[in-house]
Parts: sequence; C-alpha cells; structure tokens
Amino acid sequence: MTDGTTRREFLGSMTAFSLFPFEQEKPELILHNAHIVTMNPADPLAEAAAISRGRFFAAGKNADVMNLAGPGVRKIDLGGKTVLPGFIDAHSHPAAAGLSHLRMVDCDLRSISAIQAAMRERAAKTPAGEWVLGFKYDDTKTEDGRPLSISDLDAAVPLHPVHIEHRGGHTAYANSLVFRKAGIDEKTPDPPGGKIDHDPSSGKLSGRVAESAQAFFEKVLPHDFTRGDHREGVKLISKMLAKTGITSATEAQGTPADLRAYQDARDSGDLLYRAYCFINYRFIDAMIEAGVRTGLGDEWVRVGAMKMVCDGSISERTARLLAPYEGRPNDYGILVMTEDELYTHGRKAHLAGWQIGTHANGDVGIDTTLRVYERLQRESPRRDPRFRLEHCTVVNDGLIARIKALGAIPTPFSTYVYYHGEKMRYYGAERLNHMFALRSFLDAGIRATQASDYPPGEFIPMMALQSEVTRTDTKGNIWGPQQRITVEEAIRVGTVNGAYASYEENLKGSIETGKLADLVVLGRDPFKENPATLVTIPVERTMAGGRWTFES
Ligand SMILES: [Zn+2]
Repeated sequence: MTDGTTRREFLGSMTAFSLFPFEQEKPELILHNAHIVTMNPADPLAEAAAISRGRFFAAGKNADVMNLAGPGVRKIDLGGKTVLPGFIDAHSHPAAAGLSHLRMVDCDLRSISAIQAAMRERAAKTPAGEWVLGFKYDDTKTEDGRPLSISDLDAAVPLHPVHIEHRGGHTAYANSLVFRKAGIDEKTPDPPGGKIDHDPSSGKLSGRVAESAQAFFEKVLPHDFTRGDHREGVKLISKMLAKTGITSATEAQGTPADLRAYQDARDSGDLLYRAYCFINYRFIDAMIEAGVRTGLGDEWVRVGAMKMVCDGSISERTARLLAPYEGRPNDYGILVMTEDELYTHGRKAHLAGWQIGTHANGDVGIDTTLRVYERLQRESPRRDPRFRLEHCTVVNDGLIARIKALGAIPTPFSTYVYYHGEKMRYYGAERLNHMFALRSFLDAGIRATQASDYPPGEFIPMMALQSEVTRTDTKGNIWGPQQRITVEEAIRVGTVNGAYASYEENLKGSIETGKLADLVVLGRDPFKENPATLVTIPVERTMAGGRWTFES
C-alpha cells in the first residue's frame, strides 16, 4: 500500500461514516461459514461478517450476511474456522524490539555454545573492530547452569567488541574489548545503583554489569540508528506481531523517535498493528508545550499515556516487595523513582489531560503509585483518567480495593507463568497466588489487560491464554492456581479490556457493526482445546482494518 492509498482509505472511511446513511453502503468483503466469537455480549456468536471500508458492516447468520452482498463483493469461505477479535497487547516494547531484531543477534538460545556460535557467525560477516551486538539472552534458560562469562565471549569473538543485553534489560554482558573501550578494569568501583560483577574466586571481571553500571557501556555503544532504521524496525516487528494474531499494541516506553517511526511506517504501508504510543516522562514538557496529549492521532497511531517507572523488574528479581525474596532475607528489591518525583511529573501530566502509566511491579511499588494517583484525583479530580498500573504484579486485597475505587487499569504479564516458570521460585508458592492476579482483578470488576512486555516476555496471544488459564509452566509446575481464569475471560482480557485501556472501547475489541475490522482466524477452537495445548493453536490469518496483515 502506498502513502496515498493509506490516507485515501482513512479519509474514505471517515466520509462514509459522516455523510452517508450506513444502510446505503455495500460490503466489500464477506467472511462466511465461520465460528465467530464476537466478544459482543449482545450477540456472542456469528457465522459471517461483512466488512466495508476497514470496519465491520455486519455480523450474524450466514444467510443474513450473504444477503447484503452486492456485485463485486469478495467472499471468503472460512470452512468453519474460529474467528476472534484481533488481540491487543496492552504493554510491549515493539519499536525498540524491532530495531534490536534489525541489528542484533537474537540470543534466546539454550546453551552458551549456541550463543557463542551465533555471535561468531555474525562476527565473520562484520569488519574487524565493528560491534557485534546481541539481545534476549536469559541466564536462567541455558542448559549450562552458569551465566555467560567474559572468557566465553573472548573465545568466540576476540577481534570485535561484543555486547549482549539480558532479555529483561537490567543487565548486560561484554567481552574484554568492550570493558577496555569503556575504561573499566578490575579496580573500577561500582557506580551508585549499579554493579560490575567479579569472579568470586579470582576477583577478575566476570563480564556482567547490572543496572546503572550499564551506563559505562552506553557511552561507547554505537547510537547510529537512522530515521530509516526506525521505520524498518517497525516494519520488521509488525510482521512478527501480525503472525501471532496481534492487531494493536501499546508502545510502553515510547519516545518522539518511536512516534515518528510509527508515522513513517504507516505512511510507507508497513505498519500492520495499531500503535498506542506512550511517551516517557522525560519528554513530557516538550509534548505539553506542543499541545499534545493522550488520544491525539487516529486509529493507527495514537499518543498514549505518559510513562513513569516506580520500581524494579519481576524477571530479574528487583521489584520492590513488602516481604523479601525467597531465600534472600534482606532483599526487598528496588524503588527506582521516589514518590515525590512520581507526584511532580504525574501532576504535570494529569493537569494537562494525559493518561498516566506507571511501571509498578511489587506490592510496595503499587502502593506508592496508587498513593500518587489517589492524591492527584483528590487534589484535581478528572473524569475518567484511567490511571494505569503497568504490570501490577504482586497485589493484596487492600491494593485491589484501591485499584477498583480509582478505576485504575492493571496490565499484568500474560505469559510469565508459562514462559518464565523457572523464575517463579524466587517469589514462592504462597506469593504466586497473588501475582498476575487476573482472577482477583476480574472478580473485583477491574478491567485488566493482556500484556507481553516483549522483549522480556513472549508476545504470542495463544501462549497468554494458556498461561492465564492453566497457571502452569513449560515443565508442568503450577504457580498460583487461585488466579486461573477461563478461556472466555482470557480472550476478553486480550481484546475488550485492551481496547478500554486506550480509551478505544467504542472502536475495537469486539466484532460488531461499526467497529474496526480487526480479527484473527485460528486453526482450532480454543474453547474446545485442551488448555494444556492452547499455545499450539495455529494462527491462520490476521486482519487489521479489513486488510490481511498475515496469511499462513
Ligand atoms: Zn515494559
């Protein structure tokens, strides 16, 4: 699709809806002979859907919908396949991940030797002295039972600087060349809020640095992404998301460069999902000054909430907790921003009409963030601010009552129980019954969403369903069975609730007349599937705005 058609189609749909009575339109496409789970409570099942100008024109019985067909309408027989509304990933980092996939080696591999081989292969194609970069490495997922070391990396790639990010984003690994470039040796002291790891026996550099010590590397790492690279990154991740049935995603730590990349990719016809682009609080002054606030944009690229970060990470065990980590009696995790800072930035955004999304994982982080939100509403009440608690992982009854009272929206990790099971023991069985607490949220009437946090978490919606329904990891361990929800609820969380989280509940999230034609065609029916194999259900096609964004 060219720049021109994209805009024409968009303008076309606006005109059709504003100037002509709906009845006079004829659908362009009819999908029929399908099992359509609409997520519209007034009409939960349909056999066919008609689509016109990127929106659903009608959904209902085969005969009724086929009756709407005029000459030239395209008809697709879906052979009884199950259709769901397109999935909405309410917290992810797709633009940044797309750039990483473009430039870096994907180190989501199961042994150190496999990672060495992948880095060596990339180095062979890279002029000596230039960077060889990796990402998505996870120390808990290799069979070696030990983390990557500086000598592993030196042995694999001696002549190029090598830097590998942990998939959680809070630690990094490098070879000797990088440590030399960064001016770090065995005697360099740890910076405040950071750590340069040493081998406990020899005292030599281990190759790993954590949290703020990553800044040493940041200073020497290449930062030469062009505007075109940013667009290419969105293009690449678009294809990856579309393949799994995602039609909308929140860019949870967006920057002005990301916002531009989304617009560029949309103009070139390469944007295959609808982006709700958060803006990091560091850019909020410039945004407010430019008259921008949450909601600006259209159904493809929209300015989202202002983003802040209250505490640490679940996958790397730095979330701030009331009770310490299992087996680490003095470790309660980390608070990243103070309550005062959250309030100061939050107040600016709140008064300027922005939605606010604050990363809050641990029960202490969530309590702190809620206090800030409660104060903002008390001092300057706004109708429907839809405060967001990004992740909102470890909760209790008191926090849930406050979330409900405030109408706040949690975006808990959807795939962690299934995919990151090996990290759950750090939290313990009892605490897991209050983590990723979808059962508690839904019972309280709180509209929690599906959220991958990719790259730290996997983004596959069918994996999210399995994780939320079974609370079982890949090895068969069950974590927090009290929080299990049904398949129907999990789909609602991943569609209707995701739309609500971006103020777009009247635009998408269900298959009903007038809403955006976003849907996914599945190879098997998740309602008839053994919950333990939901993740294996193939996605056959994905549609966004009436256009196939993926076809198997
Ligand atoms: Zn995130």
